[in-house]
Amino acid sequence: MQGIQHPLAKPPRNDLVRSMSTAPIQRRGSTPVMVGRVEVGGLSPIVVQSMTNTDTADVDATVAQVAALAEAGSELVRLTVDRDEAAAAVPHIRDALRAKDIAVPLIGDFHYNGHKLLGDHPACARALDKYRINPGNVGFRAKRDPQFSAIIETALEYGKPVRIGVNWGSLDQELLTHLMDENAKSAEPVDARRVLHEAMVQSALLSAERAEELGLGAERIILSAKVSAVQDLIAVYGALAKRGAYALHLGLTEAGMGPKGIVSSSAALAILLQQGIGDTIRVSLTPEPGGDRALEVRVAQDILQSMGLRSFAPAVAACPGCGRTTSTVFQELARDIEDHLRASMPAWRKRYPGVETLNVAVMGCIVNGPGESKHADIGISLPGAGEQPAAPVFIDGKKATTLRGANIANEFKVLVADYIEQRFGKGAKADGKVNSPAG
Ligand code: SF4
Repeated sequence: MQGIQHPLAKPPRNDLVRSMSTAPIQRRGSTPVMVGRVEVGGLSPIVVQSMTNTDTADVDATVAQVAALAEAGSELVRLTVDRDEAAAAVPHIRDALRAKDIAVPLIGDFHYNGHKLLGDHPACARALDKYRINPGNVGFRAKRDPQFSAIIETALEYGKPVRIGVNWGSLDQELLTHLMDENAKSAEPVDARRVLHEAMVQSALLSAERAEELGLGAERIILSAKVSAVQDLIAVYGALAKRGAYALHLGLTEAGMGPKGIVSSSAALAILLQQGIGDTIRVSLTPEPGGDRALEVRVAQDILQSMGLRSFAPAVAACPGCGRTTSTVFQELARDIEDHLRASMPAWRKRYPGVETLNVAVMGCIVNGPGESKHADIGISLPGAGEQPAAPVFIDGKKATTLRGANIANEFKVLVADYIEQRFGKGAKADGKVNSPAG
């Protein structure tokens, strides 16, 4: 009888090792667009953006929410501009933000009456850093072209970029009907869903072409084509990326609430980002009643950071816990550390340049604790059930000290703070080395 060989009995073959190695993501290299002071596209870092859900006419509420989104790390913020009162409020919002030293670029979201609002409120047109227009509802029949042209002419007058944002909930029905008819007449008709994808892509590209004819260069145009199903989004953006060099805004529309919205957005965006597609992202989460709007910013950041595309905040690796973690110390410490690191980031960004690349591990027991902690910059392996009440701490891969007693969590937080100060503070050593605490 032939013996069965354990797959790890021999060293892995070189071709297997090669197939496991990670290759850097090759960005698509789109035409860069300046939105205020933020560059979107080209090879610039992928930009995180978000949208307010306050009534824009309510200046105080909108300023407060923009400030919260910017503080959470949103690099662009979009506002609804749906009526005169909202358009009139925009310059006041801009001024109030500047008074608070918040310079995040503002984008106006226009539907149906954008041409009129921008024409009637020049201060709003000037205050915004970008206009978002939806070709499906910029106007209908004979009014569509002149209304679209009026918005592009305003963008030209004030030197602003536009996002041509197609959404399948408001897709240009004339274009869709035309393509459906063509498909029906074709000798080899394709699935209706593919026709829908094509209509999305054509709506975006034809509108961009028209904007260019009117004089708006590609360096002032960003495209999006949002759908609410993951596979549709991947298909539409894959086609859009192949058929032009315009900068692309990625997002799954109507992603939903809670875990469903987060998972769907992460799945769709991760696949496209891995293909090098996407220059700015928004995660469209439906907030829980009274929930934190900034969650969409954190999810967008986590998508980019988990893929190694950007670093926003120190990463905390924590095991899921299991029957070996019978106390709540482990969960509490993991949550405390994560909350503490994130809450400290607005101040740390300036004080500790590079701190966002820090890796911290909080592990529940001896099984994987020491190993995972050694891979982190600083890590702790808490005692699991039945283990000695001692928590070894590892710094830069070496055991640095062992914490004991009831105050392990607070002592570890102090060690993390010391580590950050030594490695990223003003007196940091050039080699990035950190002195280990005696222990
Ligand atoms: S490290 Fe320990 S506590 Fe954490 S999941 Fe693994 S066995 Fe469980």
